[in-house]
Amino acid sequence: MPHDEAPAARGHQDWLGEADALIPRLPTRHRVAGADVDGSGSAFPVVSPRDGRVVALVADGGEKEVDLAVAAARRAFDSGPWPRMSPVERGRVLLRIADLVEEHRAELALTVTLENGKPITESHGVELRALAGTFRWYGQLADKLTDESPHTGPGALALVTREPSGVVGAVVPWNFPLTLAAWKVAPALAAGCTVVLKPSELTPLSALSLGRIADEAGLPPGVLNVVAGGGPTAGRALGTHPDVDVIAFTGSTAVGRHFLRYAADSNLKRVWLELGGKSPNIVLPDAPDLATAAATAAWGIFFNQGEMCTAPSRLLVHASVADEVTDAVVARAGTLRVGDPLDPATEMGALAGAARVATVQEHVRRGADAGARLRAGGSPRHVVPGGAYFDPTVLDRVTPGMALAREEIFGPVLSVLTFETLDEAVALANDTEYGLAAGLWTSDLSAAHTVARRLRAGTVWVNCYEEGDLTVPFGGYKQSGHGRDKSAHALEKYTELKTTWIQL
Ligand code: NAD
Repeated sequence: MPHDEAPAARGHQDWLGEADALIPRLPTRHRVAGADVDGSGSAFPVVSPRDGRVVALVADGGEKEVDLAVAAARRAFDSGPWPRMSPVERGRVLLRIADLVEEHRAELALTVTLENGKPITESHGVELRALAGTFRWYGQLADKLTDESPHTGPGALALVTREPSGVVGAVVPWNFPLTLAAWKVAPALAAGCTVVLKPSELTPLSALSLGRIADEAGLPPGVLNVVAGGGPTAGRALGTHPDVDVIAFTGSTAVGRHFLRYAADSNLKRVWLELGGKSPNIVLPDAPDLATAAATAAWGIFFNQGEMCTAPSRLLVHASVADEVTDAVVARAGTLRVGDPLDPATEMGALAGAARVATVQEHVRRGADAGARLRAGGSPRHVVPGGAYFDPTVLDRVTPGMALAREEIFGPVLSVLTFETLDEAVALANDTEYGLAAGLWTSDLSAAHTVARRLRAGTVWVNCYEEGDLTVPFGGYKQSGHGRDKSAHALEKYTELKTTWIQL
């Protein structure tokens, strides 16, 4: 299979030209039962945060389109071949999806950058690698699962088998529109479920493309359906639908609550939530290398414009090394190349839209008013006219009660807090309603293990940040959600355990 050349082989002008050629070809219709569907005929604009331009008018899904898609997924589950196929055959289709993703890699990366504003190098190198890698990983896993036969008395045989849960509604946000969709769709399909995917209304284009690719790869009609539309309309229709068996949601904690209510008020469908975060990154004075700790802290908060659920947005640094570490992060904020997302030299692109820029600026203003000290950035940046750009921003002298230390900003804004003792660091780290991730920098093996155990977070990174692969589960404690994406554990969301007890 010929793979797309790396973005480095294309320059800024190449990507600009390819974007102009792609925009008129972007998908604008829902994908239901293997076909493009217009739905009710109304449409909504997809505005590129790169330059404020409307790049597509997309069919606006509501109850009617969700009904259509759920009915297709229901039929495909109840009487179609997918759940009855051998796992090895299902795995083969997932592997073909991964191959086709690779084949369309540049086009998909460009679609993500146009709708989301992230640098093309990251769409190509991170999003698309994750998308293809996730389908490949679950494709390879599909036929390697085994059921259980517990030891019973001699008069009986017990089987504990996993069966696909049914129709899955996957509702995802805009910050990693393809990765997060894949983390739900691939394990759900591997388990034998059928899916209705609802992408964010800010980034529906890449998901609609994925729907077409999956059908082209040989997925039977109705196994993966994609409905574009708003949260309170299409999202709610999926959450309340009586024929949806499982909701797999990634997004904000506030909307996660809605899905629990939707389930309670409808059919008690299973609801799995991957939600927000305000992750601490603790730097102890014995960090193996303070320069690396600082560089990683800066990379962590500015990567993907800070629009990361796991962003290490609270830097908790020991008072004795606070100046050294903070100064290095501030220096890096000053050299980071904020630029046109279509320029391969760009390190930080556009935020997801003008509304995001206004929200981030408001957080910074309130933080400064509350007494935090602005050390870097703090303002919108003019890069491409009409675009949504913001400075890499650092504030220190942040105290635990400030909104800067408590609220998820979801932008390139780092809050620096200091501590004197290890106990104080752990208390500060856990002093949040969230529990998605945490970082810890130390050379002390015992401190690494004991502090990692005391941190109430789904992932703890020691002497690194954002590392990992598909072998490890990902998800939150506390109000960062429950259930896990990635790894074989993700299958637990999409399967029911059945006990068969046979009296011999
Ligand atoms: P969001 O909660 O506003 O939207 C997420 C999805 O829910 C979108 O598809 C949206 O259309 C839909 N939605 C919105 N309102 C709805 C409603 N009333 N009923 C039904 N559906 C509704 O989140 P966002 O702004 O798209 O993304 C940012 C949030 O996502 C942040 O809080 C971030 O931390 C979180 N996030 C979490 C993870 C994780 O894995 N834990 C990963 C990425 C992002």
